[in-house]
Amino acid sequence: MLVASQPLPAGAPPESHEQIYARVFRQLRPRTPLPSIRVEFRRYASANAQVRLESGVLLVRIADTLEGAPESVHEALAEILLAKLFRKPVPAHSNDRYRRYLNRRDIRDSLDLVRQLRGRKRMEHPTGAHYNLEEMFEELNHRYFWGLMARPQLGWSPHVSRTMLGHYDPSHNVIVLSRILDRDTTPRLAVEYVLYHEMLHLRHPAEHRGVRRCVHTKAFKEAEKHFERLAEAKALLKKL
Ligand SMILES: [Zn+2]
Repeated sequence: MLVASQPLPAGAPPESHEQIYARVFRQLRPRTPLPSIRVEFRRYASANAQVRLESGVLLVRIADTLEGAPESVHEALAEILLAKLFRKPVPAHSNDRYRRYLNRRDIRDSLDLVRQLRGRKRMEHPTGAHYNLEEMFEELNHRYFWGLMARPQLGWSPHVSRTMLGHYDPSHNVIVLSRILDRDTTPRLAVEYVLYHEMLHLRHPAEHRGVRRCVHTKAFKEAEKHFERLAEAKALLKKL
C-alpha cells in the first residue's frame, strides 16, 4: 500500500510522534510527571490504535497504515487515545478530524486494499446442509437483476449468529450468511430475503457524505420493496 506523506510546512521542524503525545499528555495531565513515551507502528489489518500506561511508560501502538497521515491527524488520534486512557470525554473536533481522514476516498481505498491483503475472511463453503447459496444467488439474480450481477464469493458463517444474519464485505467482495439460516426449520423465503438484501448492498454501495456513512440509501430502500412477499419474509426472520 502507498499513502502519500504530506509536505512539511516551511520553517518549523516537524514534531515527532513522541513529541505530539508528550504535548497532548501535558495538556490533559499538567501536574503528572511525563512518562517516557514510545510510539510503534504495527501491521494491523485495519486502521487501529491502542495505548497503555504501565510502570512509567506510555506505549502507543498504531496501525502502520496510519504512519503517513498528516500531523494534525496524529494529534487528533493522540487526543482521542489519551482522553480514553484518562476516562475523559473525547473532544468532538478530534473525533471529527480523525474520522474525516479515514473517510477520505484515497485513504479508504488503500485501507480496503490492506484489509484485502492481510485480513482473512472467516466463512465456509456455500453449499450448506439445507441451502446452496450459489444456486440461490443465481435464481435471485435472474428474478431481480436480469441475471446481470457478477457473483461475489458466497459462504456460510462458521458460527451461528442471531444478531447478524447477513453481511456484505466490499473489500473482499464476499457475502456471508449466518449459519442459523441453514436449517430445515428456516423457510426458503427467509433465506432468500437475507441474501437479496445483501445483494442490494452490492448493487447500491454505501454513500459517504463527509463523516457520515449511509448504508441503506434511498435507492437501496426503493429496490428492497421489489422483493416479492417482503412483509412475509420479514415476519419469518422475527421468528428465527
Ligand atoms: Zn443492510
